[in-house]
Amino acid sequence: MSKTQLPYDAQTPSRPTPSAPDGPAPSAPDRPAPPVALYLHLPFCIARCPYCDFVVYAGANSRGPRARTERLYAAVDRELELRADALDRQFGRERPPLASVYFGGGTPSLVSREWLERLMATIRARYGVAPGAEVTLEANPGPDERGDLADFVRAGVTRLSLGAQSLDAGELRRIGRRHSPADVAAALAAAREAAIASVNLDLLYDVPGQSLGAWRGTLDAALELAPDHLSLYALTLDDPDAEGLTGLGGDHLPTTPGARRWRERARAEQDDDRAAEQYEFATAMLAGAGWRGYEISNWARPGHESRHNLAYWQRRPYEAVGPGAHAFNGVVRRWNAANLGAYLEALAVGTPGTTLGTAPGTTPGTTPVTPPGGEEHLTPEVAAAERIILALRLDRGVPQAWAQVPPLAAVREWAETSGLLEAFLDAQTSDAPRLRLTTRGRLLSNELFRRLV
Ligand code: SF4
Repeated sequence: MSKTQLPYDAQTPSRPTPSAPDGPAPSAPDRPAPPVALYLHLPFCIARCPYCDFVVYAGANSRGPRARTERLYAAVDRELELRADALDRQFGRERPPLASVYFGGGTPSLVSREWLERLMATIRARYGVAPGAEVTLEANPGPDERGDLADFVRAGVTRLSLGAQSLDAGELRRIGRRHSPADVAAALAAAREAAIASVNLDLLYDVPGQSLGAWRGTLDAALELAPDHLSLYALTLDDPDAEGLTGLGGDHLPTTPGARRWRERARAEQDDDRAAEQYEFATAMLAGAGWRGYEISNWARPGHESRHNLAYWQRRPYEAVGPGAHAFNGVVRRWNAANLGAYLEALAVGTPGTTLGTAPGTTPGTTPVTPPGGEEHLTPEVAAAERIILALRLDRGVPQAWAQVPPLAAVREWAETSGLLEAFLDAQTSDAPRLRLTTRGRLLSNELFRRLV
């Protein structure tokens, strides 16, 4: 739905992230563990935005007589079963239930009520969903894209993440979005009407030609709408093929020539200094309004931090299904190939037992297998760097003791003398001193993180 990258950042956070205790020390050995979270990638969009790098299938794939939606949902349901079988074999059936489920995309709000209920039923039966678990669904604000929010709530959704991106009509048109600012307001009102417990707005800065005043206008309008959570991402228009593998087993799709040309033109209207200024402005404005920047790109009202995304940053194990989805079991990172045809073929949708979606064009009786993809076994050095980098993204930072061991030991002096890291006391626990990024450290976090790997 939105760009996800390390953004520019500015202000030192005032309150550390509560919740989970620190994970194992950076040098501790990794151990496999059952997932606490589940991600489902539903890759369909009505139209593809020219800046989007996600695994997305748009146009005739998403609606009309040649749509592949039914087949994909049936395949995802099958994959849920196969992955659960594997977890049963590894950890037994009495695994802890999931603390969070996340339907991402793409535009998951295009899913029908029947399929969402079916997928949730499979998740409850095979993975378990803890009482009070967070169940997020990403939605686009347009009236033909946001779906029936009351249906989503009945299926179990507790949190809505709206791909607003901007509240300036001209900017929305410039970046190829289909909705208007009024649609964002209507979608948020509908979410409140449906009693969705928590609503996030995704917003983009460093939009081509976006002035600081225009950015301020979007932030003002967003706060007027009173969401519970804001994700602010810089629009990145890097070489998309450098971001991931686009071959048959790769987790990304190639960029079309038209999108490449659009990005080249748009890049000329971006500005690093202005983007830093926009980020600093947002940080100060939201802090002044009582929001907490609990992660480099994320702000929440108290109690509305994204529990699902916190699982990623706390490096907890998560399962994932759908084309291009990534999973982590505590030791191995695994991904599904982005190729939809290969995904559907592997899962042999249309075989007996599929009660929703007849899956035209598949071979009845074929045995489904897990889809193609790849995996990476992390070395102890990479695992240690990951622990530190992910923890430093949060306002809680890391225990100061972590700076005694590699790889932080090697860069701590440089980072402190350069003003990128600072020690602080956790006001909530008053325990041992901790280290976190300073304002400057957040602005230069990519440079620091590069030195840690
Ligand atoms: S709506 Fe979101 S996921 Fe779909 S193409 Fe646009 S940015 Fe990508």
